[in-house]
Amino acid sequence: MLREMLLEKMGLNLERALEKSVQKLPVIWISALECTGCKEALIRTEYPSPSSTLMDFFSFEYSELLSAASGQQIENHKKSIMKAFAGEYILIVEGSVPLNSEYLLVAGKSVREELRYAAFHAKAVLAVGSCSSWGGLPQASPNPTGSEDISALVPDHTPLALIPGCPPIPEVITGTLLYLYLHGQLPELDKKQRPKMFYQTTVHMTCHRKHYFDKKLFAESFEDEGAKKDYCLLKLGCKGPSAFNACESLGIDRCIKAGIPCMACSEKGFWDKGGFLPRKKKG
Ligand code: SF4
Repeated sequence: MLREMLLEKMGLNLERALEKSVQKLPVIWISALECTGCKEALIRTEYPSPSSTLMDFFSFEYSELLSAASGQQIENHKKSIMKAFAGEYILIVEGSVPLNSEYLLVAGKSVREELRYAAFHAKAVLAVGSCSSWGGLPQASPNPTGSEDISALVPDHTPLALIPGCPPIPEVITGTLLYLYLHGQLPELDKKQRPKMFYQTTVHMTCHRKHYFDKKLFAESFEDEGAKKDYCLLKLGCKGPSAFNACESLGIDRCIKAGIPCMACSEKGFWDKGGFLPRKKKG
């Protein structure tokens, strides 16, 4: 079912498109200040499988965590790919970027400068996760590293898509990548630069518990009868009505299905607004 929903959202027949033998897209994944949760999410994608995503459609050329090589060998490889495929590779950025280089050097170089260079020569940039999209946890008050999201480092000529979420939904990452692979460009973006096909509705509007919300049937505590009957979690602090993401529309929601209120992890300022704490009750 997930497979059909993804294909419908992307408006394509993947099998037929693959028959055309599109050339693999080189992908460079650079991590800044992050927790590796976004990469962890990607390798747990259900459809297409992680091995298909990483091997059949793309050539994953650089990732500090996922590449088999390391040290100077992988750094030299990254440089040669950026040169050989200038304007053709996809840059994925995970994590927010510290203002001061002393907070993060990769191979002795400022990650900020590395990202600026990589974004300048990329075909497109995907900011994966709430940290690279909005600043995320490193940018939360008092933001000791002066971190910011990736947008300031991406030049006007390089298309940028944000895929926020903490972590982001793996199928949204692979869905956006596959769209790029098959159509040669980013999918339509909303005014906040998120792929419209995944972020156009709130979690609430497509929530599988919404029929209980409409009937005003709410769980009042995590242990009551309402909770056992999967009633709406609004009174337990659910932020689904203000969270734009595809968890429910793709039918892969893991929080609400498990009885955990939506925390709006894909929204800007998520950590400063309480992070993984439920919405405060009024009054
Ligand atoms: Fe909306 Fe949350 Fe209730 Fe689902 S559980 S219907 S997202 S308020």
